[in-house]
Amino acid sequence: MVPLSSFLHLQGRRCGPFAALGLGRAPPRRPRSCGAGRRPLRVLVDMDGVLADFEGGFLKKFRARYPDTPYITLEDRRGFWVSEQYGRLRAELSEKAISIWESKNFFIELDPLPGAVEAVKQMANMENTDVFICTSPIKMYRYCPYEKYAWVEKHFGQEFLEQIVLTRDKTVVSADLLIDDRPDITGAEPNPSWEHILFTACHNKHLQLKPPSRRLHSWTDNWRAVLDSKRAARSQFI
Ligand SMILES: [Mg+2]
Repeated sequence: MVPLSSFLHLQGRRCGPFAALGLGRAPPRRPRSCGAGRRPLRVLVDMDGVLADFEGGFLKKFRARYPDTPYITLEDRRGFWVSEQYGRLRAELSEKAISIWESKNFFIELDPLPGAVEAVKQMANMENTDVFICTSPIKMYRYCPYEKYAWVEKHFGQEFLEQIVLTRDKTVVSADLLIDDRPDITGAEPNPSWEHILFTACHNKHLQLKPPSRRLHSWTDNWRAVLDSKRAARSQFI
Protein backbone atom coordinates (compact mmCIF):
# COMPACT_ATOMS: atom_id res chain seq x y z
CA MET A 1 0.00 0.00 0.00
CA VAL A 2 1.48 3.34 -1.02
CA PRO A 3 0.60 6.12 1.43
CA LEU A 4 -1.35 9.09 0.07
CA SER A 5 1.39 11.41 1.31
CA SER A 6 3.71 9.96 -1.34
CA PHE A 7 1.41 11.19 -4.11
CA LEU A 8 0.97 14.58 -2.45
CA HIS A 9 4.74 14.86 -2.21
CA LEU A 10 5.12 14.11 -5.92
CA GLN A 11 2.35 16.51 -6.86
CA GLY A 12 3.81 19.33 -4.83
CA ARG A 13 7.28 18.92 -6.36
CA ARG A 14 5.95 18.62 -9.93
CA CYS A 15 8.64 16.03 -10.52
CA GLY A 16 8.49 12.53 -11.91
CA PRO A 17 9.11 11.09 -15.37
CA PHE A 18 7.32 13.89 -17.23
CA ALA A 19 9.20 16.75 -15.59
CA ALA A 20 12.07 16.58 -18.07
CA LEU A 21 9.57 16.88 -20.90
CA GLY A 22 8.07 20.00 -19.40
CA LEU A 23 4.80 18.18 -18.82
CA GLY A 24 4.95 18.63 -15.08
CA ARG A 25 5.23 22.39 -15.33
CA ALA A 26 2.30 24.25 -13.90
CA PRO A 27 0.61 26.72 -16.27
CA PRO A 28 0.99 30.37 -15.30
CA ARG A 29 -2.03 31.53 -13.37
CA ARG A 30 -3.08 35.04 -12.57
CA PRO A 31 -3.71 35.66 -8.89
CA ARG A 32 -7.43 35.90 -8.30
CA SER A 33 -9.53 36.99 -5.41
CA CYS A 34 -12.73 35.21 -4.69
CA GLY A 35 -14.88 34.47 -1.71
CA ALA A 36 -14.10 31.54 0.51
CA GLY A 37 -15.09 28.34 -1.24
CA ARG A 38 -16.34 30.19 -4.29
CA ARG A 39 -14.59 29.61 -7.57
CA PRO A 40 -14.45 32.35 -10.22
CA LEU A 41 -17.25 32.68 -12.74
CA ARG A 42 -16.24 30.47 -15.64
CA VAL A 43 -17.12 31.63 -19.15
CA LEU A 44 -16.65 29.57 -22.31
CA VAL A 45 -16.40 31.63 -25.48
CA ASP A 46 -16.83 29.89 -28.82
CA MET A 47 -14.42 30.76 -31.62
CA ASP A 48 -15.99 30.46 -35.11
CA GLY A 49 -18.83 32.96 -35.48
CA VAL A 50 -18.14 34.51 -32.05
CA LEU A 51 -14.46 35.53 -32.09
CA ALA A 52 -13.47 34.69 -35.68
CA ASP A 53 -15.49 35.70 -38.75
CA PHE A 54 -16.05 32.22 -40.17
CA GLU A 55 -19.00 33.20 -42.40
CA GLY A 56 -17.30 36.26 -43.89
CA GLY A 57 -14.03 34.41 -44.42
CA PHE A 58 -15.83 31.48 -46.01
CA LEU A 59 -17.81 33.60 -48.48
CA LYS A 60 -14.75 35.59 -49.53
CA LYS A 61 -12.72 32.42 -50.27
CA PHE A 62 -15.66 30.55 -51.85
CA ARG A 63 -16.25 33.37 -54.34
CA ALA A 64 -12.52 33.65 -55.09
CA ARG A 65 -12.13 29.91 -55.74
CA TYR A 66 -15.44 29.40 -57.57
CA PRO A 67 -16.11 32.75 -59.28
CA ASP A 68 -18.70 31.35 -61.72
CA THR A 69 -20.65 29.40 -59.11
CA PRO A 70 -23.80 30.58 -57.31
CA TYR A 71 -23.33 31.57 -53.70
CA ILE A 72 -25.45 32.56 -50.72
CA THR A 73 -25.11 36.10 -49.40
CA LEU A 74 -24.67 36.55 -45.66
CA GLU A 75 -28.09 38.21 -45.63
CA ASP A 76 -29.64 35.02 -47.02
CA ARG A 77 -27.80 32.56 -44.78
CA ARG A 78 -30.12 30.34 -42.76
CA GLY A 79 -29.23 27.42 -40.53
CA PHE A 80 -25.97 26.59 -38.77
CA TRP A 81 -24.50 24.29 -41.43
CA VAL A 82 -23.16 26.22 -44.43
CA SER A 83 -22.67 23.01 -46.45
CA GLU A 84 -26.34 22.01 -46.02
CA GLN A 85 -27.68 25.30 -47.34
CA TYR A 86 -25.24 25.23 -50.26
CA GLY A 87 -26.22 21.62 -50.96
CA ARG A 88 -29.88 22.66 -51.17
CA LEU A 89 -28.95 25.37 -53.67
CA ARG A 90 -27.21 22.80 -55.88
CA ALA A 91 -26.11 19.31 -54.80
CA GLU A 92 -22.45 19.60 -55.77
CA LEU A 93 -22.03 22.87 -53.87
CA SER A 94 -21.96 21.09 -50.53
CA GLU A 95 -18.58 19.50 -51.31
CA LYS A 96 -17.27 22.74 -52.78
CA ALA A 97 -18.20 24.58 -49.58
CA ILE A 98 -16.49 21.96 -47.40
CA SER A 99 -13.34 22.23 -49.53
CA ILE A 100 -12.99 25.86 -48.44
CA TRP A 101 -12.66 25.28 -44.69
CA GLU A 102 -10.66 22.09 -45.20
CA SER A 103 -7.98 24.11 -47.01
CA LYS A 104 -4.70 25.24 -45.53
CA ASN A 105 -4.76 28.77 -44.05
CA PHE A 106 -8.56 29.00 -43.87
CA PHE A 107 -8.76 29.21 -40.06
CA ILE A 108 -5.57 31.21 -39.44
CA GLU A 109 -6.62 33.87 -41.95
CA LEU A 110 -10.06 34.51 -40.46
CA ASP A 111 -10.53 38.09 -39.30
CA PRO A 112 -11.64 38.70 -35.73
CA LEU A 113 -15.26 39.83 -35.42
CA PRO A 114 -15.63 43.51 -34.47
CA GLY A 115 -14.78 44.14 -30.82
CA ALA A 116 -14.29 40.45 -30.04
CA VAL A 117 -10.62 40.47 -29.07
CA GLU A 118 -10.91 43.60 -26.94
CA ALA A 119 -14.04 42.33 -25.16
CA VAL A 120 -12.59 38.92 -24.32
CA LYS A 121 -9.33 40.43 -23.11
CA GLN A 122 -11.33 42.72 -20.84
CA MET A 123 -13.45 39.79 -19.68
CA ALA A 124 -10.35 37.74 -18.87
CA ASN A 125 -9.00 40.58 -16.75
CA MET A 126 -12.15 40.89 -14.65
CA GLU A 127 -11.97 39.88 -11.02
CA ASN A 128 -13.35 36.44 -10.21
CA THR A 129 -13.67 35.50 -13.86
CA ASP A 130 -12.06 32.69 -15.83
CA VAL A 131 -12.43 32.77 -19.59
CA PHE A 132 -11.80 29.81 -21.87
CA ILE A 133 -12.01 29.72 -25.65
CA CYS A 134 -14.04 26.58 -26.28
CA THR A 135 -13.95 25.51 -29.89
CA SER A 136 -14.74 22.43 -31.99
CA PRO A 137 -12.19 21.51 -34.65
CA ILE A 138 -13.45 20.12 -37.94
CA LYS A 139 -12.97 16.38 -38.46
CA MET A 140 -10.41 16.92 -41.22
CA TYR A 141 -7.71 17.75 -38.72
CA ARG A 142 -4.65 18.38 -40.91
CA TYR A 143 -4.74 22.18 -40.53
CA CYS A 144 -7.63 23.23 -38.30
CA PRO A 145 -6.41 22.44 -34.74
CA TYR A 146 -2.96 23.92 -35.39
CA GLU A 147 -4.41 27.03 -37.00
CA LYS A 148 -6.89 27.56 -34.17
CA TYR A 149 -4.00 27.63 -31.68
CA ALA A 150 -2.01 29.91 -33.96
CA TRP A 151 -4.99 32.26 -34.34
CA VAL A 152 -5.38 32.58 -30.58
CA GLU A 153 -1.66 33.25 -30.16
CA LYS A 154 -1.74 35.84 -32.96
CA HIS A 155 -4.68 37.80 -31.54
CA PHE A 156 -4.49 37.15 -27.78
CA GLY A 157 -0.84 36.35 -27.13
CA GLN A 158 0.99 33.22 -26.07
CA GLU A 159 -0.30 33.25 -22.50
CA PHE A 160 -3.86 32.79 -23.76
CA LEU A 161 -2.97 29.38 -25.22
CA GLU A 162 -3.58 28.08 -21.69
CA GLN A 163 -7.23 29.05 -22.06
CA ILE A 164 -8.08 26.91 -25.10
CA VAL A 165 -10.50 24.00 -24.80
CA LEU A 166 -10.60 21.99 -28.01
CA THR A 167 -13.54 19.59 -28.03
CA ARG A 168 -16.19 18.18 -30.33
CA ASP A 169 -18.57 17.95 -27.33
CA LYS A 170 -19.03 21.14 -25.32
CA THR A 171 -21.71 19.60 -23.10
CA VAL A 172 -19.05 17.75 -21.09
CA VAL A 173 -17.16 20.96 -20.26
CA SER A 174 -18.13 22.48 -16.92
CA ALA A 175 -18.78 26.24 -16.81
CA ASP A 176 -21.34 28.90 -15.90
CA LEU A 177 -21.80 30.41 -19.34
CA LEU A 178 -21.21 29.35 -22.94
CA ILE A 179 -21.32 32.14 -25.52
CA ASP A 180 -21.87 30.36 -28.83
CA ASP A 181 -23.54 31.06 -32.19
CA ARG A 182 -24.77 27.50 -32.68
CA PRO A 183 -28.44 27.30 -31.64
CA ASP A 184 -28.52 23.59 -30.77
CA ILE A 185 -25.63 22.39 -28.67
CA THR A 186 -26.04 18.77 -27.69
CA GLY A 187 -23.75 15.96 -26.66
CA ALA A 188 -23.10 13.22 -24.16
CA GLU A 189 -24.23 15.32 -21.19
CA PRO A 190 -28.00 15.93 -21.34
CA ASN A 191 -27.84 18.65 -18.69
CA PRO A 192 -24.75 20.81 -19.28
CA SER A 193 -23.66 22.96 -16.34
CA TRP A 194 -23.51 26.14 -18.43
CA GLU A 195 -26.19 28.51 -19.61
CA HIS A 196 -25.99 28.91 -23.37
CA ILE A 197 -25.97 32.54 -24.51
CA LEU A 198 -26.70 32.56 -28.25
CA PHE A 199 -24.32 34.90 -30.04
CA THR A 200 -26.10 36.49 -32.97
CA ALA A 201 -24.78 35.52 -36.41
CA CYS A 202 -26.16 35.84 -39.94
CA HIS A 203 -27.46 32.26 -39.84
CA ASN A 204 -29.32 32.52 -36.51
CA LYS A 205 -30.58 36.09 -36.31
CA HIS A 206 -34.11 35.15 -37.41
CA LEU A 207 -34.62 32.55 -34.70
CA GLN A 208 -37.06 33.39 -31.94
CA LEU A 209 -35.66 32.25 -28.62
CA LYS A 210 -37.96 30.89 -25.98
CA PRO A 211 -37.46 32.49 -22.55
CA PRO A 212 -35.35 32.18 -20.48
CA SER A 213 -32.87 31.70 -23.38
CA ARG A 214 -30.77 34.79 -23.98
CA ARG A 215 -28.78 36.35 -26.80
CA LEU A 216 -25.70 38.47 -27.08
CA HIS A 217 -26.28 40.48 -30.26
CA SER A 218 -22.64 41.47 -30.81
CA TRP A 219 -19.58 42.46 -28.78
CA THR A 220 -20.98 45.98 -28.47
CA ASP A 221 -23.97 44.43 -26.68
CA ASN A 222 -23.83 44.46 -22.87
CA TRP A 223 -21.84 41.28 -22.19
CA ARG A 224 -20.90 42.59 -18.75
CA ALA A 225 -24.58 42.58 -17.76
CA VAL A 226 -24.83 38.92 -18.81
CA LEU A 227 -21.88 38.01 -16.58
CA ASP A 228 -23.19 40.16 -13.72
CA SER A 229 -26.61 38.51 -13.84
CA LYS A 230 -25.02 35.07 -13.77
CA ARG A 231 -22.84 36.08 -10.84
CA ALA A 232 -25.90 37.35 -8.99
CA ALA A 233 -27.84 34.15 -9.72
CA ARG A 234 -24.95 32.06 -8.40
CA SER A 235 -24.69 34.07 -5.20
CA GLN A 236 -28.31 33.20 -4.36
CA PHE A 237 -27.27 29.57 -3.96
CA ILE A 238 -24.48 30.18 -1.45
MG1 LIG B 1 -19.39 28.89 -33.60
